[in-house]
Amino acid sequence: MIRTLINPATGRQIESIGDASPDEVDARVADAAGAAIEWGRALPSQRALVLHRLAELVEQHADELSRLDVDETGKPWTVMRDGELPFAVDNLRFFGAAARSLHGTAAGEFSTGYTSMLLRRPAGVVAAITPWNFPLVMAVWKIGAALAAGCTVVLKPAPTTPRSAIRLAELAREAGLPSGALSVVTGGGEVGEALISNASVDTVTFTGSTATGRRIMQLAAERAVPVHLELGGKAPLIVFADADLDGAASAAALAATYNTGQDCTAATRVYVERSAHDQVVDALAATMRSIKVGQPDDPSTDIGPLITADHRERVDAFVRRAEAEGASVVTGGAAIDGDGWFYSPTLIAGAAQRSQIVQDEVFGPVLAVVPFDGESHAIELANDTRYGLASSVWTSQVDRGLRVAHQIRAGVTWVNDHLPIASEMPHGGRGSSGFGKDMGHDAVLAFTFGHHVMVKHAEPVARSGFRPA
Ligand code: NAD
Repeated sequence: MIRTLINPATGRQIESIGDASPDEVDARVADAAGAAIEWGRALPSQRALVLHRLAELVEQHADELSRLDVDETGKPWTVMRDGELPFAVDNLRFFGAAARSLHGTAAGEFSTGYTSMLLRRPAGVVAAITPWNFPLVMAVWKIGAALAAGCTVVLKPAPTTPRSAIRLAELAREAGLPSGALSVVTGGGEVGEALISNASVDTVTFTGSTATGRRIMQLAAERAVPVHLELGGKAPLIVFADADLDGAASAAALAATYNTGQDCTAATRVYVERSAHDQVVDALAATMRSIKVGQPDDPSTDIGPLITADHRERVDAFVRRAEAEGASVVTGGAAIDGDGWFYSPTLIAGAAQRSQIVQDEVFGPVLAVVPFDGESHAIELANDTRYGLASSVWTSQVDRGLRVAHQIRAGVTWVNDHLPIASEMPHGGRGSSGFGKDMGHDAVLAFTFGHHVMVKHAEPVARSGFRPA
């Protein structure tokens, strides 16, 4: 199948790219299996060097890579070029460093006459599947961790946003990665299924929707291979009346609309202590109205379009259903006329906790605000979804922030902020948000397995004869 890539900010065609055939998928997996020994047995310092060189090359090609993602997603140029791109470089530098600190556990003598050691071995061939919202960064999270661990990778990017991943693989080759150690196959779900189902794939890592994650887990279960799933989110943002209310409202509006809300950690449910509710709604509405929706290359643009016309219809349908269920649209709530799939930043008040707009992932610039009465009520509402990825607490009392964070079911909780992430810290969720981590040491370890090597001594050291009483 040939797919035409469309710029969502203009509706215009970019170029056409064909799906990988089943034979091509098998050939790329065979290449990865063939390269697994050379790369997997390379010294950690050599793997680190290649990842550091790749970071340099990504930095040198920053404009080119940024342009690919901006044209395919419509995200603002400055957000990509000055934010996501340097972050991807930092991720690669972290993974380069992490490649050198994958020690096994120190040796121990646990049975008379034997020395045991636990070594970390690369998991082998990794099938990586990524979504369209952060094409370059998602590709880097997957390949960086896997390559650092000594695995080889076949990566399938989303069909709407494949080009930065393709270019990344070319740059990796230039950085010194052995031939076949990283390949990209293009296409949609069928290509993804062919990849996961290949008998030479040892581990699957996936970022995308919860529904696709379930399907991927089923396919991986057929061959009993491990999966690592980074899925959807419905992040709560809890504002206590003692917080900096204007600061919280402005951060919430930005965290709800960053990347046009197409972010699994986006603030989507704002819970406000009842006494501060109306003030926060007013401040949220003011910030939402001030967000500039526009073309990616206009430096004054804050957010770009949604990814496709279909996705815009889906987002709008969420808003219409919320209205039908009795909630009110305080601001926004409509597609913006013109070329491209723009949608106005939308604030919804008066929605019931169990309504769809509060429970399900919209993946658009849409925020629902709900009042709460007291700390335990806030925690109860925050935990009342099937997701468990991101969350935040806003309060001037540090001990309250920590107490609430302790009780929230999520992979990350910010206190007095929402969204920042760091290469050193693992990112991932619980419940329907998946399991496993991207970034941090946890991500690299996930692509290794512990190999116990037990050495028998020809002349065992005499034991003391001690017996517990
Ligand atoms: P999606 O699940 O539709 O697609 C993700 C990827 O899976 C794409 O490459 C797609 O082609 C592929 N795919 C689809 N069906 C498949 C199948 N049957 N077998 C194998 N591969 C298949 O998701 P999307 O719409 O591209 O991305 C949006 C979703 O990603 C949201 O739910 C968002 O929350 C989630 N996401 C999560 C994180 C996280 O870290 N938790 C980060 C970014 C995005």
